[in-house]
Amino acid sequence: MSKYSETDCYQNIELPLNGGRVIPVTIKRLDLLHPDIQGNKYYKLKYNLEEARLSGHDTLLTFGGAYSNHIHATAVAAREAGMKAIGVIRGEPAFPLNPTLSTVQALGMHLHYISRGDYRQKKTGKILDALKAKFGRFYLLPEGGTNHLAIKGCEEILNHEDKQALFVAVPIGTGGTFCGLVSSAEPGQTIMGFSSLKGEFIRNEVQELLQVYSIRPRCQWEIYTRYHFGGYAKFTPELLGFVKSFRLTTGIPLDPIYTGKMMYGMLDLAEKGRFVEDSRILVLHTGGLQGIPGFNERFGTNL
Ligand SMILES: *Cc1c(COP(=O)(O)O)cnc(C)c1O
Repeated sequence: MSKYSETDCYQNIELPLNGGRVIPVTIKRLDLLHPDIQGNKYYKLKYNLEEARLSGHDTLLTFGGAYSNHIHATAVAAREAGMKAIGVIRGEPAFPLNPTLSTVQALGMHLHYISRGDYRQKKTGKILDALKAKFGRFYLLPEGGTNHLAIKGCEEILNHEDKQALFVAVPIGTGGTFCGLVSSAEPGQTIMGFSSLKGEFIRNEVQELLQVYSIRPRCQWEIYTRYHFGGYAKFTPELLGFVKSFRLTTGIPLDPIYTGKMMYGMLDLAEKGRFVEDSRILVLHTGGLQGIPGFNERFGTNL
């Protein structure tokens, strides 16, 4: 996988505070790292691809929903690495294919649909054995791509300069990226994770990931669970309005699933006085923009 840009890309914006004050925020545009493998998925795949190759695999297999950024990134990465890719998609096929699935199919990914019931059991031997019987030997990437090697890749997101920031904000899906950041951040830094899913369960999942992968954070970390806007891939007119106005005022596109919710949360926290004026704040734009055409088509929105 080649990076699009060897130098990291940053953009400075100002978050408004009460009383007309503003707080400077630096956005690290991981979405511009690579032309197609957006954002954190680049880091999550990096060492997995290396491992797949070293262990003599020529096929990647992974799981995801029909609009998944991870499915998309896996298809691009496999194509670049000259490997085959199989995407096991939750639910029934729908035609014409949505923009995400038609893109990955054009990239050569083989799409294999399984029922929602089977999808829930995808980690069991029964489902995996059936996939092995059908497709032969493959390198398995879990749904969302989170495993030991993904976390190792995400430990590289923060460079030396990024480690001077007092606050680092990131969206949370599975929590893999968050754990990589927490693992690598310096004492004195606070990693702020914004869950895009509804519920408190993510706190336990993150604790479990930290435990399973023996991560002993040196930094502080916080998880916010109240900016989910109804749940994963759910939204409100307020969120859509925010994503649109953010793009108009800063020129930066956000996705409605992850980065839009995080940025809304950051603005809300800034308004509530979470930061002082010289807080050095770094916000990670983790990508997800590939999903916007599909989102618009599915919900009739115009992001
Ligand atoms: C996958 C994804 C995330 C979540 O990453 P996790 O490691 O699963 O927490 C965040 N933002 C974007 C844009 C993503 O595609």
